[in-house]
Amino acid sequence: MLDRNQNFLRENNARYQFHPMIHPMLSQAHPPQIIVAGDGCRVTDIDGKTYIDGVGGLWNVNVGHNRPEVKQAIIAQMDQISYYSSFAGTATPPSIELSALVCGMADVEEADKIVFSANGSDAVETALKLARQYWRLAGEPGRYKFISLKNGYHGVHFGGVSVNGSPYYRGAYEPLLPGCTQIDTPWTYRNPYSQDPEELAQIIADLLDREIRHQGPQTVAAFIAEPVQGAGGVIVPPASFWPKLREVCDRYGVLLIADEVVTGFGRSGSMFGARGWGVKPDIMCLAKGISAGYVPLGATVLNRRVVSAWYQGITPEGFLMHGYTATGHPLACAAALAALDIVIREDLPGNAARQGTRLIEKLKPLADSSSIVGEVRGKGLMIGLDLVADKVSRASLDPSNGIAERVAAYARDEGAIVRPAGSTIILSPPLVINEAECDILASALTAAFARIEREL
Ligand code: PMP
Repeated sequence: MLDRNQNFLRENNARYQFHPMIHPMLSQAHPPQIIVAGDGCRVTDIDGKTYIDGVGGLWNVNVGHNRPEVKQAIIAQMDQISYYSSFAGTATPPSIELSALVCGMADVEEADKIVFSANGSDAVETALKLARQYWRLAGEPGRYKFISLKNGYHGVHFGGVSVNGSPYYRGAYEPLLPGCTQIDTPWTYRNPYSQDPEELAQIIADLLDREIRHQGPQTVAAFIAEPVQGAGGVIVPPASFWPKLREVCDRYGVLLIADEVVTGFGRSGSMFGARGWGVKPDIMCLAKGISAGYVPLGATVLNRRVVSAWYQGITPEGFLMHGYTATGHPLACAAALAALDIVIREDLPGNAARQGTRLIEKLKPLADSSSIVGEVRGKGLMIGLDLVADKVSRASLDPSNGIAERVAAYARDEGAIVRPAGSTIILSPPLVINEAECDILASALTAAFARIEREL
């Protein structure tokens, strides 16, 4: 039975599924790895080979795979009821408990309300739509524009794609939302302005100021950014950048939306990425780590300033005509309560900070020993190895030559799964990773780069 099943899986891998983020013909030629089991920081594929999960699922399995506490919480909830929504007339106990827990934890200024959804893209879409509705209710309906950073990633819905800072995600789906513009990102390694981090932070904050004035402050609804840019290449801004962002947004009354889908709940070494920079946004987008990937869950937290606009009387414009069938899904909320209990109890933000620093130190020598590693950078357990064609000019390696994919394949031969993303190799292991597991990850990547070096 198992063999027949395995043959079926092998034969039909990439036959029926349209796999995201790759060309379907490449998927057919290089079928995806079939993962069948996981435990802690390790996953096993269909051939029985076990790997260190250097990507933590997709930056999300923060508490590790197969945790009994999370599984038991989901089963206990199923024994009660598996589904009911948080639409107008109803709610379930886990959704209520989780709303109180997350609003209590979240670092938005006077966190007041949460809207649940199912994905990070939903959390972003909710933030953008509610920002616009806020301005209508606040008597400034002309504020509909969004500004964001180049290299930013905000999911795949039309709103998120419109504010995504990489044209790569937009091209095939245009035309998009009108009124969305991007400014340069504070990327110390690759920018035309300054190598000095603090000077660069000021220059980019000034660019935002100029862009708001250029658009007309009375037309700008919000600025959205990730505290540490993830999918765009693990770009860590200078320390003063987020406080400066907050200042510029406040100068013009523009809402500050932190997309914490990756950074939320510990990944960048503090409970929230914005907290790491000492800043409280007005709206926060959460997903991934909130339920550690066990059941899909997204959430958008709003502060009191935003929420209060809804409480000035019952008007047709104030109805919240936005929500998902999965809003407040009890299994997702039960999984999240158990996952966040582990995050807090085991101080996973602290572990992410410690192991991340150690892993970066272990990987840094690659920038000397490998001719194609330009920089090893990161914060907490968000780590990127920047692949370059030329170390002096810092020109990126052309992603179409497939070298990042070869590095990942060789790392896999050495027992580690890492993620090639354009010209960056991304590491985002579970936040429960220990020193021995970090060492395996670092050795596997070091061996993979040595093999590439011999071939180049
Ligand atoms: N925002 C950020 C910062 C993300 O990294 C992602 C996903 N990687 C999203 C939004 C979208 O999340 P999802 O894939 O769950 O829709």
